[in-house]
Amino acid sequence: FSENDMARRSVDAVIKLSEKFKKDKGRLPVLMEVCGSHTMAFAKTGIKQRLSEHVKLIAGPGCPVCVTDQKSIDAMIQLSEIPDTIICTFGDMMRVPGSKYSLMKAKTEGKDIRVVYSPLESVKIAQNNPDKEVVFLGIGFETTIPVLALAVRDAENLELSNYTIWMTTKLVEPVLRSLLDSGEVMVDGLLLPGHVSVVLGKKSYDFLMNEYKVPSVITGFEPVQLLTGIYKSVDLLLHQKAEVINDYPHVVKNEGNLVARRLLEKYFKLNDEAWRGMSKIPNSGLVFKDRYARFDAKKKFNVHVKEPRKTKCRCGEIIKGSINPEECVLFNKGCTPTHPIGPCMVSTEGTCAAHYQYMREE
Ligand code: SF4
Repeated sequence: FSENDMARRSVDAVIKLSEKFKKDKGRLPVLMEVCGSHTMAFAKTGIKQRLSEHVKLIAGPGCPVCVTDQKSIDAMIQLSEIPDTIICTFGDMMRVPGSKYSLMKAKTEGKDIRVVYSPLESVKIAQNNPDKEVVFLGIGFETTIPVLALAVRDAENLELSNYTIWMTTKLVEPVLRSLLDSGEVMVDGLLLPGHVSVVLGKKSYDFLMNEYKVPSVITGFEPVQLLTGIYKSVDLLLHQKAEVINDYPHVVKNEGNLVARRLLEKYFKLNDEAWRGMSKIPNSGLVFKDRYARFDAKKKFNVHVKEPRKTKCRCGEIIKGSINPEECVLFNKGCTPTHPIGPCMVSTEGTCAAHYQYMREE
């Protein structure tokens, strides 16, 4: 079979199975895709649109740019105003609006803000600019954090005293616990992120099965993989089995990536972390261990950022899966990819951006 044939057959199989669910329960099965890349892939491939009358797919808190709180962006802008300071960040963060303006705007006003593809590049920048302070905006989940650890290791080996990271990283388990505990969103099953699971391993999701009894499937990013993930989730629901299935076994192992996990343990410790639109979630982020505090930008610089004022942007609810982008009054009105009001419209993994590009009604 060709890839397209496989996808068509998979769609038919999902529809058939979800019809059974509908007959049993009188409603659609509700699955949350935890990963921002899954959100984009579902919209881009048309799977979400094709299955809309059979399976309710809701986006979860897995877009790293979207969950970064506005205070971190404001802090970076404040830091960029200190003479002889270079701010380094991933490209997607540049256009996220802060309280005053975005990092992009700050750059056009002459601040030294540089886009890097890897935190390791920011270490090189620090090495090449010994008379300047270099601060990297450290966002991301367990997939990215090991690279931050490698950057610190490089900075340590190079004995750099002008390199720090503004840690605002996020961990998957605490946010899933927080969402499931809150009961704000009704979810029957979870589609778990392929990339993060490479580091975490299947075993780290046992709590979903043992404590929350939520069927979950670790899945890849190709159309057939996505559809198989949905099929297996609905199948678990029909059989009332709260298992975790690893449907991405060639890359996700039971124990995860031990080298990456050891790196995290070496440099970082747990921290209560602020997520956009949510209050602080206990132990949901990482900060430097005391031994490495010299690399902590929050400790090195005296930055005080005010609480951001409230706007009409509803990214906080989008991230929790409690509303669709179309329910935000600004969607495709005040807020578009060229004039984004919130990060969910900026990020290449943002739910609003996915809806705007692939699901918007003209
Ligand atoms: Fe925020 Fe724009 Fe999405 Fe509304 S459409 S929630 S303003 S990003």
